[in-house]
Amino acid sequence: MPAQTHLFLCLKDNYGVLLHDPGSGATAAIDAPDAAPVEAALKSTGWRLTDILVTHHHADHTAGIPALKERHRCRVVAPQAEAKRIPLVDETVREGDTVRVGGLTARVLETPGHTAGHVTYVFDADKLAFAGDTLFSIGCGRVIEGNAEMMWQSLLKLRALPDDTRVYCGHEYTQANIRFARTVEPNNKALAARSAQVDTLIAAGRPTVPSTIGDEKAANPFLRADLPEVATAVGLADSPAWKVFAEIRERKNRA
Ligand SMILES: [Zn+2]
Repeated sequence: MPAQTHLFLCLKDNYGVLLHDPGSGATAAIDAPDAAPVEAALKSTGWRLTDILVTHHHADHTAGIPALKERHRCRVVAPQAEAKRIPLVDETVREGDTVRVGGLTARVLETPGHTAGHVTYVFDADKLAFAGDTLFSIGCGRVIEGNAEMMWQSLLKLRALPDDTRVYCGHEYTQANIRFARTVEPNNKALAARSAQVDTLIAAGRPTVPSTIGDEKAANPFLRADLPEVATAVGLADSPAWKVFAEIRERKNRA
């Protein structure tokens, strides 16, 4: 049976998401920004929490773990490189590992750059990717612990997923990301179309997440740094893609 998902806002602009396997009844929270909204989501779905899959150590992705673990005795899975900075970890994962949530299987991709040990969980059979703060809709995470070249390589791994993969990210930043993206690619028609769609969703109080890898490839400038027109647009024609990426990231930091 296909996986079911339930997305909800936490804290100011964080997303929490539950992933449910209807066959076994298993349910994973992807990250745990805050226990209360996760509890509310469990109550509204009637699902029972069995696992927490952590993408990275930042408090706005992990602060809810102790209370959830105490109440549900769920398993906490976290990136090996960051396990010491994440509470109550039961199992650590690294590149190429698989993680089961009931009958669902995730493949672990190491996607460092935002943090040094950040991972993405890819459920290939369900075409779902949980990218934390690596890839945002029409944006990407700040490069905090890694460097631009590392982050670019992480984004390339995500870009290589099938176009119809649905990507869940850690924050609702899409509208601001689009405003910035249009300064880089003012003539990108896919970006203009996405902008109109996102304005409609936000006006209706609806999430802009998930998007798909195909949508992101068409309109997210951070995934397009190896296109000649994007390099030219930021004055770096013939530069390596990671340098173009670094320039776009710097401009976004200053925006
Ligand atoms: Zn973060």
